[in-house]
Amino acid sequence: MVRKKLQFIVSVWVVAGLLNVFAGTQVLAKTVEVFPNVFTIVHGEGSDSNSTFIITKEGVIVVDTRVSPMEAKKVMAEIRKHTQLPILYTINTHYHGDHTFGNQVFRGSKTIIAHKNVRRALTGSAGKDHLDRFKSFKIEGLDEVTVTPPNMVFEKRMEVYAGEYHLQLIHRRGHTNGDLFIHLKELKAVIAGDLIFNGQFPYMGDGYVSEWIDALHYMEDQDVEMVIPGHGDVGGKPLIIAMKHYLLNLRSLVQGQINDGASLQKAKETLHPVLKEKYKNFGKAERIDGNIERTYLELSLKEGS
Ligand SMILES: [Zn+2]
Repeated sequence: MVRKKLQFIVSVWVVAGLLNVFAGTQVLAKTVEVFPNVFTIVHGEGSDSNSTFIITKEGVIVVDTRVSPMEAKKVMAEIRKHTQLPILYTINTHYHGDHTFGNQVFRGSKTIIAHKNVRRALTGSAGKDHLDRFKSFKIEGLDEVTVTPPNMVFEKRMEVYAGEYHLQLIHRRGHTNGDLFIHLKELKAVIAGDLIFNGQFPYMGDGYVSEWIDALHYMEDQDVEMVIPGHGDVGGKPLIIAMKHYLLNLRSLVQGQINDGASLQKAKETLHPVLKEKYKNFGKAERIDGNIERTYLELSLKEGS
């Protein structure tokens, strides 16, 4: 398989109302052909999570299904512009609803793959609670969701061979306890899920800061030139480095506060303006306090143990 240059063949979903509010500016959802037959839909509506599909000779692999059946059907419509081949596999990079609540639309693939903790988080009352939480965000189309957990799970690593593609699914804890990223070795590409947010503060409510940094170290060490993040535009290796540096910086600032004996509240008051200024190009600044809190709790627990 020959790696070709990044092609930004953009087919914009030109439908009135398909605008997304992103960092104060309106960004159109768009489908980017990252490589021939590898497409990523970025800046989706309702939630701005990305979805990627790979068209192999045998059929299609879908990575992350977006936030609702309505949004997943848009992904399916994009796929059908390019091929009528069946959906072979659906893969969830982690359990968050903006990556899994469209799963039911891809049930025809028979196989929805994820880390085993994703199945746990989406099964029974846990799945219902997660959907209820998303409903509180008032995202359109969530009444149609039937939470559909993965039915093929793994613990550390899994390899998928489909047509001419070889996908290495690698579990690392970081953004959640069930993250996977996909290494497409021949393409020198990773589909990173929410281990990488591009251009915005990450959501860290389920995060493990130090392990997240380790996961990014590991990813950076791979032979990678193209990075498809969970949110934001596709880019190169600097996306991995930028995310890692944000987390390293956050951790060291919070550790400094703990060393000074600051309370969580004091740490937030001190660090919020620092982070906001340093990362003023990032969207979703409303996540800063949550980022400080999660890091503070993790580091405090470590000190207490
Ligand atoms: Zn997420």
